[in-house]
Amino acid sequence: MLAAAKMISGGHAPNPTRVIRSSRRRSLSINMLLLVVLFHTQAITAPLPEDTQRARVERVESRVRQINTGQFDQFEIHGFKRFNAADKGKLKHWVKTGVNATRDTLGVYPSRLIFHLVPKKSNQPVPWAYTRRDKPQRIYLHVDSRFQQEKFIRDWTIYHEISHLALPYLGGNYAWLAEGFASFMQYQIMANAGILEGSLEQNYQNKIAPHLKWFNSDLTPASIARRLMSQKQYPAAYWGSAYFFILADKILAEKHHTRLSKLISQYQFCCNERYASAGQVMNDLDGLLGAPVFTELLASFENSPARQVYPQAFSSNVTPTESVDALP
Ligand SMILES: [Zn+2]
Repeated sequence: MLAAAKMISGGHAPNPTRVIRSSRRRSLSINMLLLVVLFHTQAITAPLPEDTQRARVERVESRVRQINTGQFDQFEIHGFKRFNAADKGKLKHWVKTGVNATRDTLGVYPSRLIFHLVPKKSNQPVPWAYTRRDKPQRIYLHVDSRFQQEKFIRDWTIYHEISHLALPYLGGNYAWLAEGFASFMQYQIMANAGILEGSLEQNYQNKIAPHLKWFNSDLTPASIARRLMSQKQYPAAYWGSAYFFILADKILAEKHHTRLSKLISQYQFCCNERYASAGQVMNDLDGLLGAPVFTELLASFENSPARQVYPQAFSSNVTPTESVDALP
């Protein structure tokens, strides 16, 4: 399934809006205070220009105020008029479950999540989905409502699409990185919600191992991933690129006592905008971490031979823990 994060110009006229309040209200003031303190602390270890630092702190504080007034504690679902009442209830519950599960792993999003449901007969519950980076950003889900609610909840697509919006639109040259991120995160979210069949490690291995052969090369990982994207070899491009985030998460767990999902939930408050370059995102993540992990990893994906970055076989110790439940 192509689940691309694309910039498509133009927009649809909005359908009648249904606003559903998430079942969870969050008390974020203390967490956000800690985050603001974190920024000040990390200004010591990883200095930022004063203007940048002040702008970020102000953005975090503004988002805290908006979240505490419930502004982002809502999401919208459009397109219900094309479904009957029973299917509408089922689909509403599914989207709500997807939003809550994703927020549990990646934090509250700094914008309202907007979904469009489109009926589509298929042999799977969600045969097609994509994210449009318009203003506002929107997630389109093509669904076959004949499937049971449980089949929808266990389908990876909604977690993948919402994950895309935890990072800015990175542009076509870094679509591979965006897809690697969403592919990595879909299973983190499902594991955290207790709906992933099998271990995280096994799921990553099953998806990534068949594509390692493409990366047994003197070309760089980024160039290989871009070529796979252009040749529409999507599973190889997505899962080959997910290895970037496997490596990042491993470094965070082993050397920095944190995990990628936790760092991304902090990133959402300080830095997540609609557009940013891949380099800027890596810089921001390093700024939060106080160490140049992401810029160095991207540099190695851009400059090193892939065979020096990727293993020939998926190692059993490449994922640091079996479950994100082990998060500190
Ligand atoms: Zn995608």
